[in-house]
Amino acid sequence: MDLKDGFGRRINYLRLSVTDRCDFRCLYCMAEKMTFLPRAQILSLEELYRLARIFVGQGVRKIRLTGGEPLIRPGIVELCHDIAKLSGLEELVMTTNGTQLTRLATPLAEAGVKRLNISLDSLDPIRFKTITRIGNLGHVLQGIESAQKAGFQRIKLNCVVMNGRNADEILNLVDFALSNRLDISFIEEMPLGRVGGLRQERFCSNDEVRAKIEERYSLIHSAEQSGGPARYVRIPAYPHSRIGFISPHSQNFCSSCNRLRVTVEGRLLLCLGHEKALDLKQLMRRYPESDGRVIDAIHTVLAQKPLRHEFSLSGDPQVLRFMNVSGG
Ligand code: SAM
Ligand code: SF4
Repeated sequence: MDLKDGFGRRINYLRLSVTDRCDFRCLYCMAEKMTFLPRAQILSLEELYRLARIFVGQGVRKIRLTGGEPLIRPGIVELCHDIAKLSGLEELVMTTNGTQLTRLATPLAEAGVKRLNISLDSLDPIRFKTITRIGNLGHVLQGIESAQKAGFQRIKLNCVVMNGRNADEILNLVDFALSNRLDISFIEEMPLGRVGGLRQERFCSNDEVRAKIEERYSLIHSAEQSGGPARYVRIPAYPHSRIGFISPHSQNFCSSCNRLRVTVEGRLLLCLGHEKALDLKQLMRRYPESDGRVIDAIHTVLAQKPLRHEFSLSGDPQVLRFMNVSGG
């Protein structure tokens, strides 16, 4: 039986967080000092695979592995290989910060990962380090190059734009994507977790991002969808690239929501912007031999999927869970 929520929205997309750990500390995602979860509290590789199998059996057609940084989880390539083979799954994709791609791009493509999203917020090494608090831009650029050679169907850059940080690099980032035949999506920062700094002050809406791009390029609307909330435009002279806008604040996309997230601890999140969740880890550990009990619970809880997120950038974040735990 397919998964449907109480508003009749069909769920066919699952985002699985495979680790909360990361080799970066991006300032919009994490606090400077983070405590990560002990191993016993996170899903094992076997449990991640079991969940993927259960969800694909219930009509999920696309799975995105994310985190934290998915490529620092030991055994990730083997997990991809196993999930990609699930009958009924149309696409296994991943979001990564790119640091491990010189080593892992080819094994991942061979394991069956079809597309990659790679985060890139700046092309300036010093700024890149400031935004990621640790990162080395050169490693990520090399990773992008390795991914391009590895034969993925598409590679998309993800960029969170912040006033006073990288908003003046929008055109440079677009040019980088165009000249490398990559897609690029601009994401409005979401208020998840107390990360330090004032989100409201650095908020840059995608209307502003789009206006900036239009100073140099004329954009044509594209009806294409990649199964997510991004709205796409194209530049006629660059047919290999798409420009996407993920605008949780300026353009609510919840009415077409088709997704669920599983946190690194195995909580099934019904919406990124709400805490309502089902503890799948506990259920799986209680019923190691019976997927039926887990499946019934998933169908039941779906009736409670909220209509929309209620993100607001002012005041304290309503959701204290950090993005790296949620599976961004
Ligand atoms: N570590 C990987 C990476 O950075 O691509 C995967 C996990 S990361 C949480 C997934 C995506 O979420 C990244 O593109 C990141 O830029 C985005 N992200 C993280 N925190 C965010 C926030 N508060 N608002 C909007 N996007 C955020
Ligand atoms: Fe790590 Fe990705 Fe979060 Fe940056 S956005 S700290 S790379 S999980």
